Amino acid sequence: MIPFLDLKAINQQYQAELKEACARVIDSGWYIMGKELEAFEKEFASYCGSSKAIGVANGLDALILTFRAWKELGKLKDGDEVIVPANTYIASILAISENKLIPVLVEPDPATFNLTAKNIAKSITPKTKVILPVHLYGQISPMEEIMQLAKQHKLLVLEDCAQAHGAMIEGKKAGTWGDAGAFSFYPGKNLGALGDAGAVTTDDEELIDVISALRNYGSHEKYKNKYKGVNSRLDEIQAAMLRVKLQHLDRETEIRKQVALKYLQGINNPLLVLPEISNSEGHVWHLFVIKTPKREQLSKYLSENGVQSLIHYPTPPHKQLAYKELQDISYPIAETIHDQVLSIPLSSTISEVEIEIVINILNSFK
Ligand SMILES: *Cc1c(COP(=O)(O)O)cnc(C)c1O
Repeated sequence: MIPFLDLKAINQQYQAELKEACARVIDSGWYIMGKELEAFEKEFASYCGSSKAIGVANGLDALILTFRAWKELGKLKDGDEVIVPANTYIASILAISENKLIPVLVEPDPATFNLTAKNIAKSITPKTKVILPVHLYGQISPMEEIMQLAKQHKLLVLEDCAQAHGAMIEGKKAGTWGDAGAFSFYPGKNLGALGDAGAVTTDDEELIDVISALRNYGSHEKYKNKYKGVNSRLDEIQAAMLRVKLQHLDRETEIRKQVALKYLQGINNPLLVLPEISNSEGHVWHLFVIKTPKREQLSKYLSENGVQSLIHYPTPPHKQLAYKELQDISYPIAETIHDQVLSIPLSSTISEVEIEIVINILNSFK
C-alpha cells in the first residue's frame, strides 16, 4: 500500500536530532514557557520574515486568539462580519463564530481553490471588518490584490497559513502579507510538531502584546491578569521538536514541489482535473488535490490498486450540523469542490517508484 502520508517515516529521518532535542528539554527541568519556545518563536519569525511569532497550543487557537485580541483592542465587536472562503477547513470558521463574529462565506476560484479579490469585493458590507484568506492546500491566496482591497475598505486581514508554511509571492511569505498570520503545526502539516502546536505571526506591537497575554491566562506578569485569557501555550518539548523540523522545512518543501511537478507532468487522464498554480514559489503542496466527477469510483480504484487517497474535505462547513444557520444559502462552487476533490499521496518521503505507480494507476482509470 502506498500510504497517503507516512508520518513515522518523515520523523524517523530526524530521529537522532529529535531525540537529542527531547533529552535537552527533559534535562533542563523546565517544560513550559522557556528557552525552547523563545528560540523557536525567534527562528520561526525570522523564517517567515515577520517581526514576531507567538507560540500557542494549536492552529485553531492561533486564529481564535487573534480575533480575540482585536476585540480586546477595540478593533472588532460582536456581530462584525468576517469574509472567509466557503470551501475552507471548518477551523477557520469556528474561530470566527467562537468570537461572536459573523462568518460571511465567499465562493473560491474553482481552479486555485482560493479566494479572489473580485469575489471578496462582492461580499463587502458596512459590517465587514476582516478578510480571512485561507491558503488552502499550500497555495498562497492572491495577497497583493486582497491587501489592496483591504486597504481601500479599511479591513483587517488575518491569513490562515495552517497549510502554507513558506509559500510566497515575490519572496514575501505567507503570514507577512496581512495584519497577522495564523499557523498550525499539527503533525501532518508541512511543518509538523509531534503533537499539537500553533503560532501567530505579526509585526503589530499591540497585537503581540495582547496575544502573548491571552495565551497565558491574560497575564503579562505572574499573578497579574489584564484579560480573561486562556491557557494556550506551546510547550517546550514541542518547541524543541519544531526547532529541529524547521531546519529541514525548505528541503522538504523542495521535494514536495518536485513530486507535484512529476504529477503535473505525468498525469494525463482527461477524466481528471489537475490543480492550477498561479506562481511557482506560491505553492508548497501541503496537498495534491485533483478533481473528478467520478470521485467515488476513483478513490475505490486507487484503493484496489494499493494507493491510499483522502478527501479534503467531504462536507462543506455550511452543510455541517454545527452550522445550521448557514444551511439556507447555497454555494455551488464550494459544493462542487467538496463533491469532486481527491488528495493523492504527496510527502517528502514518497519514492520515485511510488510516484510512477500513482501516475500509472491514475492514467489507467476509466
Ligand atoms: C489544520 C488547520 C487549522 C487548525 O489547526 P489545528 O492545529 O489543527 O488546530 C486551521 N485552518 C486550516 C486551513 C487547517 O488546515
